[in-house]
Amino acid sequence: MTRLFGTNGVRGIVNQDMSVEFALEVGRAIGTFMGGRVAIATDSRTSGDMLRSAVSAGIVYAGSDVLDLGMLPTPALQYYVKNSGAKGGVMITASHNPPEFNGIKCVDHDGTEMPRRKEEVIERIYSERDFALPAWNAVGRIARMDGVASSYTNAIRRAVDRFKVQEAGLTVVLDCANGAGSITSPGLLEALGVRAITLNCNPQGTFPGHPSEPTPENLRDLVAAVKATGAALGIAHDGDADRAIFVDDKGTYVPGDQSLTVVASHIVQEHGGGTVVTPVSTSSCLEEVVRRHNGQVIYTKVGAPTVARRMMEIGAVFGGEENGGLIFPEHQYCRDAAMAIAKMLEIIALKGPLSELLKEVPCRSLDKRKLPCPDDKKGWVLEQVEAYFADRRTDLTDGVKVYFEEGWSLMRPSGTEPIFRIYSEGKDEATAKRCGDECEKVVRELLEE
Ligand code: MG
Repeated sequence: MTRLFGTNGVRGIVNQDMSVEFALEVGRAIGTFMGGRVAIATDSRTSGDMLRSAVSAGIVYAGSDVLDLGMLPTPALQYYVKNSGAKGGVMITASHNPPEFNGIKCVDHDGTEMPRRKEEVIERIYSERDFALPAWNAVGRIARMDGVASSYTNAIRRAVDRFKVQEAGLTVVLDCANGAGSITSPGLLEALGVRAITLNCNPQGTFPGHPSEPTPENLRDLVAAVKATGAALGIAHDGDADRAIFVDDKGTYVPGDQSLTVVASHIVQEHGGGTVVTPVSTSSCLEEVVRRHNGQVIYTKVGAPTVARRMMEIGAVFGGEENGGLIFPEHQYCRDAAMAIAKMLEIIALKGPLSELLKEVPCRSLDKRKLPCPDDKKGWVLEQVEAYFADRRTDLTDGVKVYFEEGWSLMRPSGTEPIFRIYSEGKDEATAKRCGDECEKVVRELLEE
């Protein structure tokens, strides 16, 4: 059977592996599987209209109806699906990938990312060409719907203490990376009474401002604008605005695990405890701060859908990833950048500047490496690594995470490339490097065997 969906849907380079013919067939499989009304939206990529049309044609071909919501952030589509009674959703996006990429991502009827077992059914339908083929008078219809962006931002505005935010009279700089966040985040800030200076907030599919991954290199203009304007906060999104990365009031880029920790700290204090869910790759600064406020952290495999599902199962108060993907259970069980910025503004309005809030978060250094590893050797290497560190404290949730005296290392094979990754964390650079060196030596020797 063909595997279509990776960890973030189907992705490819437009008019090479991501063609109209392919998108049409995937649409037929989705329409056959969903069997009812399907909501569809795109991010700002140049190929968005083309692929949305192809997928929509495939869906109606299979007898399902399409509700076309236009350009929206992924979480805005998810919020609509959750509340509309649609059978599911389709997002045309390649998130933070370069502009020549695009992708197809499925949303379940409850607004969460489609679980793997359902994706497998769609893949089976696609592989076996087991498409529904209704009679001429039973094909689906396509309707357009406007106004979803404002109902989404209204819900977010009501989910935070908007009066406190308004009273604080904040100025922020917002960088939407010319992506889908441009449709919702400027309006949300206005509705919250926040003065927004905007950068790259015109949706433009070639991403002329900068690549859409919110890394420090890509956010130099945002950092400069925060410093130049004396803004209280800098805000950046990736291309489909499910992630939010911040720059503090001093103009310092805030790594995602630190903003995750600031928000977690606030939420756990509000609840007088509770459980926060995050992947094993997240910095231990989160657990240290959450425990300080009588909360606990539960670790999952890497991937936002896994985090969201675990949160639902155990009734977590908050969850998220170190890349700026934050999940607020009272709003919806998926990463939501607009909700993240509203919450961060509420926290700043209640407690003070982000640079002050970050003083509570212990600093950690990260060391990332990768070693070439053939796919057929990955399982064996992982087994040997586990055996080698058997007498140490380990966490086997995803790969092997080994705890050392002053840090930890996570060794796991990549799911998509022939490489073995080693992430290490320590209280400073030297410690992180020591952990990385020790693990690299072990993995390298195994690979040479
Ligand atoms: Mg994204």
